[in-house]
Amino acid sequence: MELLSKAGLEDHYENKLTLSTVLEINANTTSDEPLSTMQSLPGAFLKKLMMANVNARSVKCLSTDQEVSYCGVDNLNTDSDTSNVINPLDLITALFLCSDGFLQQEMVQKMSMCQFAVPLLLPNCDTKQSTLMLWALRDIVKKFRSSSQAATKAFVEERVVLSDIPMVSFVRLGENSLSKSQILNKLLSNPQQYHDTFVHHDMECGDVPRQVSDGLVEISWYFPCGNRNIDMFTKPVSVANLRGDIRSSEKQFSFLCQTSAAVYIFIDDLEANFFKVLKSKKTKAELFLVVNCQGKRFRVDTLKKMISNCSINEKNVIVKKKQNDAEFVKTLQSSVGEIIERSPNRLTIENMVDVAHQMGIWVDEDCGECQSARKMADEITRNITDTNEFKDQQLQLQGTIWKEISQLEKERCRLRKAGDQDIEHYKSSLKKKEKELREKQYTFDISDAMTSFMLGMSSSGAERSYFLKWMRINLDNLSRQNLSGLRDQYKDLCQHSPEKKDDIKDLDKQLSDCSLGLEHFLRELGQLYEAACSLPESSLQWQQMEHLPGLCAQMLLDGFPVELVDGDASNIPLKWISAVLTQLHTLVDSNSKIWVVTVLGVLQIVVHAFIRMKEVGKKPVCHFVHQNVSDMSAHDNNMRDRKKLLEQLDEMTQAAARMEKKENITKFTDVMEYDPDTSSCYIPGLWHGTPPMAPVNAGYSEAVYSFKKTLMKDFRKCQRNDDLTYFLEWTQSLWEAVKFEKFIFSFRNSLVADAYSRLCLEYNSWEWVFQKKMYSWMVSAETKMSNIVMTDQHPQRSIRDVLQDLMIEASEKLSEGEKEIQDNLVKYFEKQDGHVNLVEKYKEDFVSSAKTLRRETENTVKNKLQGAVEIKEGMAELNNIKSSQANTMEKKVLDLLQKCRQKKAGLSDKELRIEFENMWRITLSEIHFRGLPRRDVAQDAFLMLRGNLSTRGSHVNSMLVGTNLVDCGKKEFAVESGGFGEKLGSLVKHWDFNHYRKKLQELCDNIITQCQLFITQKVENKTDYHDTYIKELLNKIDETLKQHKNVNVSEVCEVSLKLHICGRAARKFQKMHNDFIEVNDPRKCLEQSKIKYLTEFKDLFHNRDLCQKKAEDFTKLCLQPAVQDYVTKMIGPDVIDEVKTGKGSEDYSTRGAFQFSILKQLLMDGEYEQYREYINHYENFVKDWLFDQIVQQLSKVRSLEKLEKKHLSEMVKIITDTICNIRETTTNVNDVKTFIQNICSALEEKLVLKDALESIFILNTADTEQFADYLTEFVREMKQSLAATYDKGGDIKERLRSLPFKPQDKMFTILFGCGEQCPFCGVPCEAGGIKHAKHHASIHRSEGIRGVRDIFSNKLVIQICSSLVVSDTSFSNAKTGGTFHPYKDYQTFYPDWLITRDSSIEASDYWKYVMATFNETIAKGKHALPADIPEDWKALTRDDAFKSLKKSFNMI
Ligand SMILES: [Zn+2]
Ligand SMILES: [Zn+2]
Repeated sequence: MELLSKAGLEDHYENKLTLSTVLEINANTTSDEPLSTMQSLPGAFLKKLMMANVNARSVKCLSTDQEVSYCGVDNLNTDSDTSNVINPLDLITALFLCSDGFLQQEMVQKMSMCQFAVPLLLPNCDTKQSTLMLWALRDIVKKFRSSSQAATKAFVEERVVLSDIPMVSFVRLGENSLSKSQILNKLLSNPQQYHDTFVHHDMECGDVPRQVSDGLVEISWYFPCGNRNIDMFTKPVSVANLRGDIRSSEKQFSFLCQTSAAVYIFIDDLEANFFKVLKSKKTKAELFLVVNCQGKRFRVDTLKKMISNCSINEKNVIVKKKQNDAEFVKTLQSSVGEIIERSPNRLTIENMVDVAHQMGIWVDEDCGECQSARKMADEITRNITDTNEFKDQQLQLQGTIWKEISQLEKERCRLRKAGDQDIEHYKSSLKKKEKELREKQYTFDISDAMTSFMLGMSSSGAERSYFLKWMRINLDNLSRQNLSGLRDQYKDLCQHSPEKKDDIKDLDKQLSDCSLGLEHFLRELGQLYEAACSLPESSLQWQQMEHLPGLCAQMLLDGFPVELVDGDASNIPLKWISAVLTQLHTLVDSNSKIWVVTVLGVLQIVVHAFIRMKEVGKKPVCHFVHQNVSDMSAHDNNMRDRKKLLEQLDEMTQAAARMEKKENITKFTDVMEYDPDTSSCYIPGLWHGTPPMAPVNAGYSEAVYSFKKTLMKDFRKCQRNDDLTYFLEWTQSLWEAVKFEKFIFSFRNSLVADAYSRLCLEYNSWEWVFQKKMYSWMVSAETKMSNIVMTDQHPQRSIRDVLQDLMIEASEKLSEGEKEIQDNLVKYFEKQDGHVNLVEKYKEDFVSSAKTLRRETENTVKNKLQGAVEIKEGMAELNNIKSSQANTMEKKVLDLLQKCRQKKAGLSDKELRIEFENMWRITLSEIHFRGLPRRDVAQDAFLMLRGNLSTRGSHVNSMLVGTNLVDCGKKEFAVESGGFGEKLGSLVKHWDFNHYRKKLQELCDNIITQCQLFITQKVENKTDYHDTYIKELLNKIDETLKQHKNVNVSEVCEVSLKLHICGRAARKFQKMHNDFIEVNDPRKCLEQSKIKYLTEFKDLFHNRDLCQKKAEDFTKLCLQPAVQDYVTKMIGPDVIDEVKTGKGSEDYSTRGAFQFSILKQLLMDGEYEQYREYINHYENFVKDWLFDQIVQQLSKVRSLEKLEKKHLSEMVKIITDTICNIRETTTNVNDVKTFIQNICSALEEKLVLKDALESIFILNTADTEQFADYLTEFVREMKQSLAATYDKGGDIKERLRSLPFKPQDKMFTILFGCGEQCPFCGVPCEAGGIKHAKHHASIHRSEGIRGVRDIFSNKLVIQICSSLVVSDTSFSNAKTGGTFHPYKDYQTFYPDWLITRDSSIEASDYWKYVMATFNETIAKGKHALPADIPEDWKALTRDDAFKSLKKSFNMI
């Protein structure tokens, strides 16, 4: 125990070290820190041993040497310091004492690879108990060729514990002058390759006094290679070596005497009494004495006396005379050689158990777990006589049925043999067949062997491991007998008669048939599980199988491998593998990382594969491993070669890239992570010398270790989220790809989908930030523009100059915003997490989306500002007239005031009024009133329309000639029948007759409604008519038409539509214009303000204080409407933020998520009418849906009111602050007019203060201080009264519709995306960004859902495009010009669409369910006959549909 605690092993004396602790990858795995403590020695030894490093036994602490050199003098007094060193034998003994059976086996394996002796009897110096290490030795298998076989070149392969190799033991009596172990090493080594099989005194730390290893019996073997010039012995022999004096290890000695063919006793002290005792022993072994005549106590006479006394055969006394070791060893060798030839006592190690038990020696296999496990394993394997037959009877699930299922699975993807069957029916039939086969699998009772196997697997911890090990050992033994012969034949045939292909193939089959390993049992387990998966979860069978993956995962952790691909059926049992790996992931607390290491040969083809892998963002790390390199300087010398190699690799990559049409890939490093300096590794030969007696080359082990360190470095680099679950995803999609024979990695698995939606999510948020910024800039620019005439301090600058400045500013803003998005994109793709590499190929889509966004926003900004300028200019004349009139009148009133004040006698109110009336009459007569010119709106609008269509051909022109807008749009707009749509119907299936016309009519009606709304809003504003209104209208039409390219609107239709809309607009606008002229007639306006002038005049005359009144007027007439206007403008973007961040916001995060939420809701509601709207009137449906969602969201928490009040408070604060500021900074302003002007210019970017001074009419210079006080008070009141209005709320829909920035419209644009729909089934595109290279959708649906039917039977069709595109069927429509074209090559006609096959057969369950449920209803509505629905579609439940929906949109 003392030694154990020194070595830090005391805990493991009870709680044994296990193989998994040793295999664990941790900081020590690749660390080369010098060893500083005793506690680090066992670990270091094990690490080196696992590397099969022949230097493993020389581990010692660094400090030991230092202490000696620095403190040598101090230490002279004490005994030589042994506190920090340990004899290798002690270390080995201690470790074996502290390890469990499986680690012991592994240690023994590795030790024997290094040609180290391994423990046969392990002593325990505390309990004095010795253990026969049978289990530990059980896994050693050795190959050799005895000289008699030399001619045939045949090898014998044997498990050493089972082979009856004669054993020769070496022991010593008393102290001995000869180093027994060193002599043994020489005995076993070929002269040209001396090797330290046994630890001896002269080895590092070999001289440290032993503490726990006395009584240790080590064993080693000599195996010949069949070459007489090399072999020391012609037949195999095992050599046992007892450590310590036989007098203190009597039990071990007796054991050796009973089990060995011969025991050699090294003896110096010939007078020892012990020898007499020995003589009396009955031994099976022949005894030899080894005496050193050079020893101090050697006396020839004593020896002679003893020989005669003990009647020892003189031949059995070997004396080392005055000869060197080599000579002496030869003598020994010939003695041992003789023994082997005679082999009087041969006992396999397994058979030594009885002897051990007789001697009171434990056997490690005695433990209950090992015994019961063996029983269970034997139970299974005992009955195997013919492996083929056994497999047929006991492992029947993996037989033909499984192979058939594999074929079916592949056919279900490839649809090769569909013939002229309907694809969906064919798929269903395949599914049915598979189900039947699975059921058939289940009709077999679980076989006896599998029942026993599952029982064994289910046993606890160590017992299971023993069981599996026993199974492996038993099966190995079985197949060793069967296979070795076949393998030799196979090798022989391949080497000598490779032309006999059939024979080789036949042998290959035999090899595969008769191989039977643990993997076959696990495979069967997998099949049981897979078959159970097709049963309901409540079934008994399923419950029996449920725990299997967990057991298998535990097995993986215990170090047993599990196969991924069943090589015999070439299939991956995905459900089984998934379940196992998922369990494993759970077992390691979700802290798994997986890294696939593959050994590749054929590089040219590999490069092709990697170019394709780059497409999905996988860039593997590549290392070149050069084997059997003997030169130490290989790495340096090969510098030039490496450069050359890289050049060649680059060339090869370019060639491959050209073939893959990926010319941007030019370098090898583009597809692989490869550094010529660190990614090359030179590994020397494995064996040092000639096998089987050669140990592993130390250089080999070191080179492999340094390679491992490199791999570990790579492993550390591997992403955090490369865990087992991700690995599973890749396995699944790769397997799908293989089944589809689509070796191009274009598959979109859920990882890619996930990464893509994350990217969309991010991009959407950047885009939204950009749009919000631009909107608020736009609002302030427009405000500035609106305020321009009134506050422009530089009258010489025209409004056009301001426009130009604003456009420059806009351009800067836009560039800034675009750059921000682009920078964000770059940053996003630089991040290593979130699997950005998987979506690398979509980056370009988003880069160009950002560009488009900028361009489109720029256009909007330009149009809006230009429109504002035009309106401003249009109003300029009227404003001029008005202000000049006001000026004149103001002057006149002030003149009159002066005059009246000069009159001595005070004037009565009546007199004042008469004076005023006089002045008013005279002034009016003096002003020359020009009425406003009346415009012909229809004519002006027509000019705009012509401009809009100016680039079109003569046909359009001829339609316009002679048209008067006044006459247009009087009737309802109707799409002319004939011409547009009907001819588009496909030849085999078609929509109902009017389908296209209806679609077109619907679109036109939509556009008309939109325009109507716009016109009404303009008219409600009671402004004058401006040409920009018609321009905006035409833009709206053009944009909507662009969005619906797929509807195929003809030019004639477009022109008629525009004429219709413009005609209606012209009439409405004409009326608006007339009203405006009427209302704004200058004379009328002036007359209307007569009362105001009079009141003001009287107040002034009486010097009444007007501050309060003016302050109130300014607040009510100017500020309040401006503030309300401001709040209305600001609220729109906020509502979107609210929806985007509130509860349920994830539904709007991406287009995919949005589709998911709609489809989910539709499914929950389960009403056909809703589906019908969704499918047939997708756009309107989405608009209404969104609007409803927004309204619901807002009404729940009264957020609209909150937002309104927030902006109100903000603005009131700005106003109040402005008032304060102006008061403080401009003390000398004594006139209210200037004061108000100052306020206005301070607010010019925030508020549109219309005609401020005009409406307030100020004649005098009032007290500004008092005015400011009143104003502040009124502003406060205004805040309260507005807040109260907002609180009252009202119809949210109305309020939203009245906002200038309509959140519902913006949300629609964001979520509607490009608006494209699948050309076959009509599902909307879900791709992110504005511009994308390809449109794609998560799930497609039966074409029959939107009414497509078979032209002959008039039945709705059920085919799904995602199946059709992998089938051999064809389509034909107007696009193909009526000819048939394979669906596979749909991209010829629809190059923008990417229709991927379903990720699984369940993927389209959602729409199958819908189709099956509403089949009759759809048919009725479309005047078609119901479709023939496959049985399994009918069986689908709403739950199945929901499951498939979640899976398709990756929402689990
Ligand atoms: Zn489709
Ligand atoms: Zn799209």
